[in-house]
Amino acid sequence: MAHLTEYSPTFLDTLSRPLRNLRLSVTDRCNLRCQYCMPEEEYVWLPRKEILTLEEVSGLVDIFAELGVNKVRLTGGEPLVRRDLAALVRMIARNPQIKDLAITTNGILLAEAAQALHDAGLHRVTVSLDTLRPDRFTALTRKDSHAKVLNGIKTAGQVGLKELKIDTVVIRGVNEDELVDLLEFGKQISAEVRFIEYMDVGGATLWSMDKVFSRAEILEVLTRQYGYIEPVAAVSAAPADRFVLPDGTVFGIVASTTTPFCSTCDRSRLTADGTWYLCLYAQHGIDLRSPLRSGASKAEIISTIVSVWTMRSDRGAEERKEIRSRDVLVSVDRLRQDPRLEMHTRGG
Ligand code: SAM
Ligand code: SF4
Ligand code: SF4
Repeated sequence: MAHLTEYSPTFLDTLSRPLRNLRLSVTDRCNLRCQYCMPEEEYVWLPRKEILTLEEVSGLVDIFAELGVNKVRLTGGEPLVRRDLAALVRMIARNPQIKDLAITTNGILLAEAAQALHDAGLHRVTVSLDTLRPDRFTALTRKDSHAKVLNGIKTAGQVGLKELKIDTVVIRGVNEDELVDLLEFGKQISAEVRFIEYMDVGGATLWSMDKVFSRAEILEVLTRQYGYIEPVAAVSAAPADRFVLPDGTVFGIVASTTTPFCSTCDRSRLTADGTWYLCLYAQHGIDLRSPLRSGASKAEIISTIVSVWTMRSDRGAEERKEIRSRDVLVSVDRLRQDPRLEMHTRGG
């Protein structure tokens, strides 16, 4: 068994990308049904007995941290429907290797959870908000919960959760007329807004290229409104390209569909049942739950992770872009056979 220091800190995948960033999908359940993510009436859920305990999740995070992961994002499904999430935050925040511990949430339960998350050591919050119009929110998510989300955002600021971000999926014919309003809302609450192109990920069964409102179109609309928009020089492998308006307001665009950024991707994802995915578009994951539950040693799990990552060649979004007549990634039948192919299972 090779010793850890043989790999660290320079173990890279086949495209020279380090492993720095772990997205933890803490549950596949969600209290919304966004049409770009969960448009079906029925879903197949991960069996409860296969869901990792909080201790198992935090144990795996510690292992990943030894291997160079220093950023963790809690996601889902809706992470705040996972019971005792603050306890998990506390366990992860104790690890000094983790420099950035964030959550992406739809915000519905945020008002109740914000204080406990802050006290547990959460660093940052991103709230997904696609519209400022309550009726549009209900049509998009099938839940009449817009006011709860706004209240969650407000409370996050009040309890001192820092660097609030708003993530907006922009879909042609749905909300592309709200870009300016959302930016102005972000200014009011001191949150950075990030516009996300509609992606053809697993579960996005209503996706089509003509609904993608591209980064170029987003910039065109905003330039018309605000004048010259300057790019901000990239300082990390973060997915958003950042821009600054003439008044100094900074915003981001995540252009995974038209301008993928796989060449710098240091992210991987762990599902709530302990399956590790090297790419948002990956068809297969690596089962870390079985070794964990069958008593594999830490060294054995480390060895698995290192050997898998050093063979990684995933560049899913770039490969999707090369397809001429791009259509839905995974059929509903296949999603039912393997729910881990769903974006809401592996985490956005
Ligand atoms: N439920 C939480 C939320 O909505 O913030 C966390 C999980 S959700 C899967 C994470 C992010 O993925 C959200 O910002 C959501 O808007 C985004 N997302 C889901 N489906 C998408 C799609 N088809 N294209 C682009 N972004 C998508
Ligand atoms: Fe919407 Fe997030 Fe739930 Fe998907 S997981 S349906 S994006 S709230
Ligand atoms: Fe990373 Fe895959 Fe997304 Fe490319 S498509 S940025 S490799 S997760």
